[in-house]
Amino acid sequence: MITAVLPTYNRTPMAFVSGKGSWLTAEDGSRYLDLGAGIAVNALGHAHPALVETLTEQAAKLWHVSNVYHIPEQERLAQALVEKTFADTVFFTNSGTETAELAIKMARKYHYDKGQPRAEIIAFEGAFHGRSTGAIAAAGSEKMVKGFGPLMPGFTHLPFGDHAALKAAIGPQTCAVIIEPIQGEGGVRTLPDACLKGLRDLCDQHGALLIFDEVQCGVGRTGRLFAHEWAGVAPDIMMVAKGIGGGFPLGAVLATENAASGMVAGTHGSTYGGNPLGCAVGAKVLEIISDDSFLAEVNRKGGLFRQGLESLVARHPKVFEAVRGQGLMLGLKCKATNTDVVKANYDQNLLTVAAADNVIRLLPALNIPDDDIAEALARLDRAATAVEA
Ligand SMILES: *Cc1c(COP(=O)(O)O)cnc(C)c1O
Repeated sequence: MITAVLPTYNRTPMAFVSGKGSWLTAEDGSRYLDLGAGIAVNALGHAHPALVETLTEQAAKLWHVSNVYHIPEQERLAQALVEKTFADTVFFTNSGTETAELAIKMARKYHYDKGQPRAEIIAFEGAFHGRSTGAIAAAGSEKMVKGFGPLMPGFTHLPFGDHAALKAAIGPQTCAVIIEPIQGEGGVRTLPDACLKGLRDLCDQHGALLIFDEVQCGVGRTGRLFAHEWAGVAPDIMMVAKGIGGGFPLGAVLATENAASGMVAGTHGSTYGGNPLGCAVGAKVLEIISDDSFLAEVNRKGGLFRQGLESLVARHPKVFEAVRGQGLMLGLKCKATNTDVVKANYDQNLLTVAAADNVIRLLPALNIPDDDIAEALARLDRAATAVEA
């Protein structure tokens, strides 16, 4: 049945009216502990005072100006990202999907300008890069592409983490390799450090650009500012969104000078991308999260949560199989049906998010208090007991 809002989501019947930290309040006044954080978006929880202040201050000054002018808030955030990462330059978008579009364009333009056009982009099964026609072609799964063809050509799909398959597929025709260091939608599947290193070496060997999609795993989520830092390898291009805006729609493509060399004036644009509101908020989010002591806390909290989850899995072997992930990007591989577990969690006023591979995701605010972690574990335990019954 058609509804006023296009029914592309299978929605749960809760509606929230306000939030504070890791808690959401529903229309009926009931409170929910939020381990979804808008799918890794509300990185500092709901209504963080510093973000509310930054947004309202900027809102009183200036919301939007065209990118035909200099935007100081945008330049400040770009400068901060350049200082804290491998990148030399940044383009701002309003979403993760848009970062996929630019990453693809940038990689193809790079080779075109070198006089040797290359179209092939290697991507991986289970990947999620967004919902544009380009991004679904990159992901390639039947679920996302069926009925939307013809798709953007040029993508090759390999099993996630299969080095031998990658070695066989990559060659002088390869424009780029695009990968999430930790797959989010795919089920919190972590690419081992050795694979990321091997990937970097193969790309260098064949002159292909390496694109990391850190839209979900970036911005402090794993306990480093960006997940690839754990492996000690850097990409040529990186996609960032979700957490960087703390809830304000904001994305960014970060790149080395070399990888970005084709993107000269007139080759790309965005009306809203890099607007003063989003960039003012993004700069505040980055300032808070990139602090070493903040990231150390994410690691400590991640360890604490993980320890509790390991014992939860041990207590409920019929419901859970294993803990996955790093820092506060956590997953529970389920033995029971993951959507049943998510529903049982709702019954405990606990919000978790299903993922592929029969996993539920726990993506709390990065500043979740220890008490809320303990409360979440108690609720997960009660929900698991209900699933067993
Ligand atoms: C969410 C997500 C995207 C798409 O971001 P949108 O803001 O929904 O367009 C792309 N890549 C990954 C890894 C994501 O998790």
